[in-house]
Amino acid sequence: MTTKEKNILDSVIYSYTSNTSQTGEENQILKETVSKLKEELDKFKVPPLMVSEVRNVFGKDAIIRLPNGNQFYVNISEECGKVKPGDMILADQKNLTIIRKIPTTRKFDIESFVIMEKPKVSWDNIGGLDDQVREIKEVVELPLKKPELFKKVGITPPKGILLYGSPGTGKTLLAKAVASSTNSTFIQIVASELVQKFIGEGAKMVKEIFELARKKAPSIIFIDELDALASKRIEIGTSGEREVNRTFMQLLAEIDGFNPLDNVKVIGATNRKDILDAAVIRPGRLDRLIHIPLPKNEGRLEILKIHSKNMTLGKDVDLDNISSLMEDLSGAEIRAVCTEAGYFAIRENRVKITRKDLLKGIDKVRQEEATEGEDYMRMFG
Ligand code: ATP
Repeated sequence: MTTKEKNILDSVIYSYTSNTSQTGEENQILKETVSKLKEELDKFKVPPLMVSEVRNVFGKDAIIRLPNGNQFYVNISEECGKVKPGDMILADQKNLTIIRKIPTTRKFDIESFVIMEKPKVSWDNIGGLDDQVREIKEVVELPLKKPELFKKVGITPPKGILLYGSPGTGKTLLAKAVASSTNSTFIQIVASELVQKFIGEGAKMVKEIFELARKKAPSIIFIDELDALASKRIEIGTSGEREVNRTFMQLLAEIDGFNPLDNVKVIGATNRKDILDAAVIRPGRLDRLIHIPLPKNEGRLEILKIHSKNMTLGKDVDLDNISSLMEDLSGAEIRAVCTEAGYFAIRENRVKITRKDLLKGIDKVRQEEATEGEDYMRMFG
């Protein structure tokens, strides 16, 4: 073999061996990718496990409660180890065998689920509701401030009241004002959230909210959109309806369970008194019903004065006249008019609010009201 031929042969052998080792590496990478993909694929094939709570344990069996409230007698798998009532576990979806324990307990921190504050709302922040304010002072403020007076006179004040009326008329504001004047803890819950967000936990939440209120007394529990929880129901068929009903029953039991002179008061609020279940407004419960109407002329002027008090108003602004142009607007809408007027001024680099700004504000709020009305009609016909 000539030297030239030998060189050619060497280079062929070199290229062959280096190609083989490269192919080997590629092979390895491909194998690893395939095995990772297989693992991922296997994860997709595994059915999800059901999160449930252990109620009772009988040796190798147990009663568990599913989130929808149904209870089942099931096996405990060998790999699970010991479980006890109250433990949260994962159960197989088909036969509900307990597979393993999970490190969460049903004891949640109720304080992180409710709005709890010591509000600073003075009675002076409320316009046009003199009669309602007087009534609330009598039935909520006075018993909290002077319980001994009621003992001496021998009467029991209502445990709670129901504020009803159109949206944005100041129901929340009134509840906060009475909490503020009695230095009470204000605990706010929205009934619709209670039944939608905490499925299976509503009744327990209600119980814990009342416990919290007693712990933080004097306190006021404000239940907004009470109709979501306490509406008349003809049938209780679906598990969702059963759940709402259980939560409602717990609410009634809690209201029945406390003393009218305990320093906890319940204030319910609704825009739909017509659909409320009569059970919640029976004597001994939220039996003082207070209507919060849309403000009349005088009331509108008072509310306008409250919300424009920190604004720099131009000389051409006659609040009396402006308030007469706001017929049918709620307190919240009157506040919105002031805010919008402020924005019109800001857009033109002014700090002084003119009559024109306020008129444009009224137009804008009325337009929004009309659009909301149309949307409502489209949705609910
Ligand atoms: P919803 O039924 O929609 O919950 P609401 O009746 O509870 O409404 P609020 O939340 O109290 O209404 O009112 C919203 C805002 O509107 C208040 O924070 C306040 O700024 C203003 N407002 C409403 N009514 C009055 C009023 N009578 N006096 C002064 N401000 C008011």
